[in-house]
Amino acid sequence: MFNDATQHRQLARPYRKALLTALLVLTFVSGLLFAYINMGRANYVVAGAELGMAAYSIVLLLGIRHTQRLEFWVFAYLVPFFSVMMLALAAPRSTLNVFIWVLLIPMVSHLLLGRRLGLIMSVSYIAIASGIFFWRYGNNPDVMQPVILSNIGVLTLCLVAFAHVYEITREQSEKRLVKLAHSDPLTGLPNRAHLQSRFEYEQSRHQRLGDPMSVVLLDLDLFKNVNDNHGHEAGDKMLQHVAKLLKAGLRKTDLAARLGGEEFCLLLPGIDSTQAHAVAEKIRSQLATTPLHFNGLKISLTVSGGVAELGRDGNFLNDLTRCADQKLYKAKATGRNRITL
Ligand code: GH3
Ligand code: MG
Ligand code: MG
Repeated sequence: MFNDATQHRQLARPYRKALLTALLVLTFVSGLLFAYINMGRANYVVAGAELGMAAYSIVLLLGIRHTQRLEFWVFAYLVPFFSVMMLALAAPRSTLNVFIWVLLIPMVSHLLLGRRLGLIMSVSYIAIASGIFFWRYGNNPDVMQPVILSNIGVLTLCLVAFAHVYEITREQSEKRLVKLAHSDPLTGLPNRAHLQSRFEYEQSRHQRLGDPMSVVLLDLDLFKNVNDNHGHEAGDKMLQHVAKLLKAGLRKTDLAARLGGEEFCLLLPGIDSTQAHAVAEKIRSQLATTPLHFNGLKISLTVSGGVAELGRDGNFLNDLTRCADQKLYKAKATGRNRITL
């Protein structure tokens, strides 16, 4: 919507936090276990790093409990965790099978950081790990065999690709779900939830920059007659017809939402109530002169509306719609097919 990246981070937060918590607990337990094993093999540098990592996991576990900046803590975990892994790969006493840990990098990075940062993180550390691999085993004819090298290379590449494609599809389905939750299925117009979040965004702009903003409430006149005389399908088609006119008659920065039934709300940033009245008038007259073609019939309909201005008539969406609703009621009482300012 208005800020995709922020919204995705917000949506991904709970599951990333749960994942990070699980990883920290695992790191703590495996840190202790491997420190014990390496100590037994007199591999003291690596054992020390592993003990440090276990203690650090506890610090991070406490840190992420109430944080608003999860990404910061993800980096604070991944960079040292992967760096200790690189240290373990480079340690002279460690064996070839330690390289199997590199396969964790693409999955963990993508799940915790999303597709862009996840890919950057994966490629960087896999490149370092490859450097260490060839530095240590480049002269070892038992390891430098085409079959072994291509097995490792292809498997690593597959895991990077899987993790990346998984994140792309996850983000896309998240986007679809958000869109679905914020729009009305019949008309495709934004719904009340979308209107509310967009209003809050515009309200903060209004507070910062002092830009005016107006709200118009529209209600179709005697809409029940369309259903009664032509059937529910005609009523539905009429609502879609009105939605189309609203979309065509407004600027890109305006928003027309369906509040439910045959009631619509226009959010008009940057204009005061007098200008908003003119916009609503234009839409009213367009609807009055553009009938719906249905089963060879022309069905005409009019609309009534009320206008309210942010600041003058209230500071919250509820106040503004209440005020606009009172004016709408007046428009209905004085003959319909009019917009009251
Ligand atoms: P007024 O000018 O006073 O607003 O009269 P009205 O007939 O428009 O208002 P009323 O509230 O009496 O009727 C609204 C009608 O809108 C009743 C309801 O069946 C119909 N309606 C609400 N939602 C839908 C919908 O999604 N599809 C169809 N076809 N009709 C709907
Ligand atoms: Mg109504
Ligand atoms: Mg009505």
